[in-house]
Amino acid sequence: MNARVKNKTIRIDGSQGEGGGQILRTALSLSMLTGIPFELVNIRAGRKKPGLMRQHLVCVQASQRISNATVEGAELHSQRLYFQPQQVQAGHYNFQIGSAGSTILVLQTLLPVLMMQDKTSQIIIHGGTHNPMAPTADFIEQCFLPTIQRLEIYIDFECERAGFFPIGAGQINATIHPWAKQTKYTALDRGKLIEINGYASALNIPSNIADRELEVLHNKLDLNNRKRLNFQGISQGNTAFVVLNYEHHQQVFSALGEMKKSAEKVAHDLAKEVKAYLATEAIADEYLADQLLLPMALGQGGEFTAQIISEHTKTQAEMIQKFINCEIKFENLNNIFKVSVCV
Ligand code: ATP
Repeated sequence: MNARVKNKTIRIDGSQGEGGGQILRTALSLSMLTGIPFELVNIRAGRKKPGLMRQHLVCVQASQRISNATVEGAELHSQRLYFQPQQVQAGHYNFQIGSAGSTILVLQTLLPVLMMQDKTSQIIIHGGTHNPMAPTADFIEQCFLPTIQRLEIYIDFECERAGFFPIGAGQINATIHPWAKQTKYTALDRGKLIEINGYASALNIPSNIADRELEVLHNKLDLNNRKRLNFQGISQGNTAFVVLNYEHHQQVFSALGEMKKSAEKVAHDLAKEVKAYLATEAIADEYLADQLLLPMALGQGGEFTAQIISEHTKTQAEMIQKFINCEIKFENLNNIFKVSVCV
């Protein structure tokens, strides 16, 4: 990894691009990785309730703790943050979000810097594990981590307790091993579809919700296997997800149950998303695409095909290029995109 500047504070406008929390999380990860301090203004200006929410604040506090950073503006609703990291310490850490905020997004903030250390870290995070607008624990376990394993990044992950809004009280455990062999990721062909499996869980609510979802998913997608999962935890909630197992890639689509939305509709909408992906030849869906850019930029780069390039992905690419000397390009190949990361 080749940092763009040394020790000169980078000023970031949080209203750029899609103006969400990812700008903050990526700035934290890259600042810790490069040692470059940053000042972020207009935090989450593109959102209805701008400023730091609990999950974002815990990302700042957790980053401060592992990098012994000097920080200004780390308060709820703050719209300005200054962050100057010191030495990053691998080790055992335990973080509490104190709400149903996403544990996964906190993990994804810390992961890039901890995997670049020469000692293993163990992280426990309490909070939400199945949040809207964030990867679910299942997406991480069955899609994000298996994909980055192809870059030889090894993380042991466990969702010990599921946490749904508003109670949360979930717990994830991750063991982050040092990234010993940084490889290039080239994934232009997902290969043949081997199987499609559907999963659903209803935590502390009637289990027939999960069964009804699996029934709809089976009718629409002709699943090879379907399974009701028994999550542990004290919150209430429901999730359904589909794992598409290809020769060279594993993709996950997930959905969360919602008040006033029937189990059938949840599964119907999920199946529609899966069908849209099946109809393309892309490797990464919209979400995996933005999540792969940083690990690739830290390693040897590479290229992959993506179903959609979201505003989120473009903003992520701009942020990475602010801190690291690399070039991220998107090329439209008729109905899919090619993403190239040159380091
Ligand atoms: P806000 O934008 O309100 O500040 P935020 O901090 O939660 O919210 P975003 O900036 O929206 O974050 O980033 C959300 C992250 O979650 C992105 O990396 C995106 O890829 C991922 N994500 C969102 N929905 C899904 C999904 N259904 N499956 C997998 N990943 C998802």
